[in-house]
Amino acid sequence: MLIVMSHAATKADVEGVVKTIEEMGYQARPMPGKQRTAVGLVGNDGKVDASRLLGLDGVLEVIHVSQPYKQVSREWKSENTIVRLPGWLSIGGDEVVVMAGPCAVETEAQIIESARAVRDAGAVILRGGAFKPRTSPYSFQGLGKKGLAFLKKAKEETGLLIVTEALDPEGVDAVAEVADIIQLGARNMQNFSLLKAAGRTRKPILLKRGIAATITELLLSAEYLLAEGNDQVILCERGIRGFDPATRNVFDLTAVPVVHRLSHLPIIADPSHGTGLRDKVTPMARAAVAAGADGLMIEVHPRPDKALSDGAQSLTPDQFGELMRQCRAIAEVIGRRVAEPAGAAR
Ligand code: PEP
Ligand code: MN
Repeated sequence: MLIVMSHAATKADVEGVVKTIEEMGYQARPMPGKQRTAVGLVGNDGKVDASRLLGLDGVLEVIHVSQPYKQVSREWKSENTIVRLPGWLSIGGDEVVVMAGPCAVETEAQIIESARAVRDAGAVILRGGAFKPRTSPYSFQGLGKKGLAFLKKAKEETGLLIVTEALDPEGVDAVAEVADIIQLGARNMQNFSLLKAAGRTRKPILLKRGIAATITELLLSAEYLLAEGNDQVILCERGIRGFDPATRNVFDLTAVPVVHRLSHLPIIADPSHGTGLRDKVTPMARAAVAAGADGLMIEVHPRPDKALSDGAQSLTPDQFGELMRQCRAIAEVIGRRVAEPAGAAR
């Protein structure tokens, strides 16, 4: 529920609303906005009797949020959330932000070579997993903390920001020390203790859609993060399980406009996991930008045939350079631009 204050409402009026919400046994989230101040009411599991709030000084109206998720909904907040990253970069505004790099950090040399290659092609964020969620326990599980140290070096060498995955609640703090964005993977979208731990950090979170998750379930998982006080959340469409083995997943690009309608949070697209096949990545990256995605996540490896994970869907640096050129052109057509590395002249 959202309690909308009138323009003439005073600070004391807002405090009065907060106090009453707390007396009713719920939590209050005051939200000073550009057009209006509103106070969100959370902690209810069902309808709340609004009459007590409607009678308070300065209250203009009470809006019942009709969706099962509250704080992530457009009803709760009409303006787009802009996720602020260190430096000049943000996600959710006019710029399309590209994150690229290998599936996994394999060696120091490999991640630094990858970082230089994706930066030279125009990526602004380096991806690479140090902790890898693998379907088989016998597959490469990632370098762990050593991988995080290599990512830190790659950041120092190239100035790229870092996105990397936290696999469990215990690992969140170590990842947060190095990452500018903490990735929560598809297999963990409904790991509620991980969501709560990540929600307690103040780092931006990249939340990937689960392998068989509906958009409502994705938004409810994001709600866990906001409920813990972290509203710096980026959603990611990365394909869902389908019946056709022609591609690894069904890359559901309708999720982009659907999420933009239902939520104020930005959504990026990952056509690498979405398709699983190298030659499908660039066409679907173009389509994602055209669909309005706020960013792309692309797997790039200096030698995809030698990659320890996801080589079949990893682009070579040259292929990634071409993807960037094409996506810049498409972004322009829809009145956006692809974010450029600081100081880049193209
Ligand atoms: C990844 O980004 O390498 C990854 C494991 O992604 P997902 O969780 O979408 O499978
Ligand atoms: Mn991968």
